Amino acid sequence: MSACPVCGEAGDKAGLPGLEACGYCGLAFKTERYFGDPVYEEGLEDGIYGAAKAGLFARALDQLALAVPGKGRLLDVGCATGEFLKAAAARGWRAEGVELNPALALKAEAAGFTVTPLPVEQAMLDKDAYDVVTVFEVFCLMDKPAAAAAELFKILRPGGMLYVREFNAVFHLPLARLEAAGVFAPLGLKPAVIHNFNFRPRTLKAMLEAAGFTDVRVLNSKLTSGDAYRTGGLLGGLFTRLAKVLYYTLAQALWYASFGTAFAGSSLIVTARKP
Ligand SMILES: [Zn+2]
Repeated sequence: MSACPVCGEAGDKAGLPGLEACGYCGLAFKTERYFGDPVYEEGLEDGIYGAAKAGLFARALDQLALAVPGKGRLLDVGCATGEFLKAAAARGWRAEGVELNPALALKAEAAGFTVTPLPVEQAMLDKDAYDVVTVFEVFCLMDKPAAAAAELFKILRPGGMLYVREFNAVFHLPLARLEAAGVFAPLGLKPAVIHNFNFRPRTLKAMLEAAGFTDVRVLNSKLTSGDAYRTGGLLGGLFTRLAKVLYYTLAQALWYASFGTAFAGSSLIVTARKP
């Protein structure tokens, strides 16, 4: 068993091949991490990085405009082709990105943005410089998420805000076990998303508080629109769309019924402040 990459406690079996779980902070992590680029079928990329997330990006920018009046300098970690940077710039932010995939980074640069091609903890970005840092589904793919969180704390100005969207292990790990048991195979569905790191709400909270952040707030995220990843299999995109809406509604019902303590959503939104 390995040491937990977030809190350092000993890992344990996670009930899935190649995966360990930390009993202390709740992180699930792959024993062998994957650092290649994501490979999507031809033609899916624009949907995944752009159109499907337009609503999520707009909601993020609505919230950030209220939380950080005056706007200012924004860094998007894992900016891909720069779709969020474009949306942020259109609302008056001075936006720049971090992107390790050269082909994606080139597209963001072609759109006029400064893009740093290094992991954030190695990038030597200006300290106390950013009003907002956003991280959309990227902590799960990083080499050193805890070191990255600590660096994001340093580069934010005091009072600055971190805005994170991340897959929720509370949803995806049980789903992956069902998938491994063959439950979805007859329908051709592959709904579970398992990356290098799979965070529970309390894992994200612990990691950000250890980095120095305060006022850490977790919510079920609304969903991407449509079936951009084509996970709907034989039942197709319409089924996926309906299932996502129904599931989000149920997860929110559970959240209300538990007085805001149970997060079953497939993804989470986490915000945190640098004091
Ligand atoms: Zn841990």
